[in-house]
Amino acid sequence: MVYIVSTPIGNLEDITLRAMRILKEVDFIICEDSRVTRILLEKYEIHKELIALNAGNEEAKIGLILRKLSDGGSCALVSDAGTPLISDPGVRLISALIKSNIPVSSIPGPSAVLTALTLSGLPADAFTFEGFIPQKKGRKTFIEALVEADKTIIFYESVYRIEKLLQEMLPVIPTRAIAICRELTKFHEEVWRGTVTEIHAMLATKTIKGEFVVVVAPSWWKIK
Ligand code: SAM
Repeated sequence: MVYIVSTPIGNLEDITLRAMRILKEVDFIICEDSRVTRILLEKYEIHKELIALNAGNEEAKIGLILRKLSDGGSCALVSDAGTPLISDPGVRLISALIKSNIPVSSIPGPSAVLTALTLSGLPADAFTFEGFIPQKKGRKTFIEALVEADKTIIFYESVYRIEKLLQEMLPVIPTRAIAICRELTKFHEEVWRGTVTEIHAMLATKTIKGEFVVVVAPSWWKIK
């Protein structure tokens, strides 16, 4: 059995009892950066063999993992934060396991997408998650398409491009409601809510640091 285990996105207490039990029971853990995963495992006194899998070595590691599981063992797949595979590596591995008839189970838990959506105050019944938006090619088209968005749009954006993003959105959707969620579940958690014009003006007074999720209201949503 292979368990896809969601882990905290900041606050290390955000881990389910089941996730902890599974991490204790499996034979080994597949992670992204072993230094990050060790911090979590040490907090809960879990000592396991770690295999690092990332975008660069995923294909190469699949054979090794299949061999290690061939005698019927079990393992967990975790990422540095949140739910594995959500803008994180692992899809090739999970696809190969399914093809090899190895049972896969997912242990739900934190993800920055849903945490941001629920805090945004914006419509949450239906939404589109875009992962990391294009940095160069396709970025302008993506931003222009927000004019017509009929559902809430959520995406991840790097700290280095948050200000640029607001500058790019300003002429396109100046009155649209947005929520910028920063450092979710951490000590410095903040949500900046308002129109694009308001948040753009506010950013001029801030030092921009941390991890961000951007939530954009659909075109039909009016702030009351
Ligand atoms: N698998 C993760 C999940 O389930 O949310 C996402 C991994 S992705 C590589 C990392 C990005 O998620 C960050 O650059 C940021 O945009 C967002 N993110 C992760 N943790 C966050 C947090 N605590 N606060 C705000 N954004 C976060």
